[in-house]
Amino acid sequence: EHVNLIPMLQDCIRAFTVTYKRKIKFSSDFDQLELSCDREKMNQLFYILIDNACKYSQEDVNVTVDHVDGLVKVDIQDFGEGIAEQDVERIFDRFYRVDKARSRETGGTGLGLPIAQFIARSHGGEISVVSEEGNGTVFTVSIPH
Ligand code: ATP
Repeated sequence: EHVNLIPMLQDCIRAFTVTYKRKIKFSSDFDQLELSCDREKMNQLFYILIDNACKYSQEDVNVTVDHVDGLVKVDIQDFGEGIAEQDVERIFDRFYRVDKARSRETGGTGLGLPIAQFIARSHGGEISVVSEEGNGTVFTVSIPH
């Protein structure tokens, strides 16, 4: 199925802007970016990451689309508490939640990221993360284009 990623992301952002009453900034040099993918699954992937960015931060969230070397890259950046180095490698494990009051308060099962990673990989892609405790987190979704 050919899906235009740009309106998909814009719809997703609109929904979370309303839910969280938060500013989510969208940047893209393209109006159209066709990706061959499962629409529902790709939607679910971005819902998980944007939901997390809003859940685990108080500030604005940035969503940036880029297209480099045959890869579509989507950055989801927040300026929240970040993830400690020893936790980063475990957040894609099923049911893993960073053991802090904040993640207990926000609720959740710890299944979001493993599902998102599974969806990215089933499209030949990957999710990577760069996080700095106290400063925030960037999740990057890379999908072959
Ligand atoms: P749910 O299954 O409802 O998404 P969850 O958010 O706990 O619950 P995951 O999405 O798998 O589950 O995330 C795992 C853990 O990684 C979270 O509990 C949280 O501690 C941490 N985490 C995920 N995204 C972020 C983020 N943007 N900033 C800080 N910590 C995060």
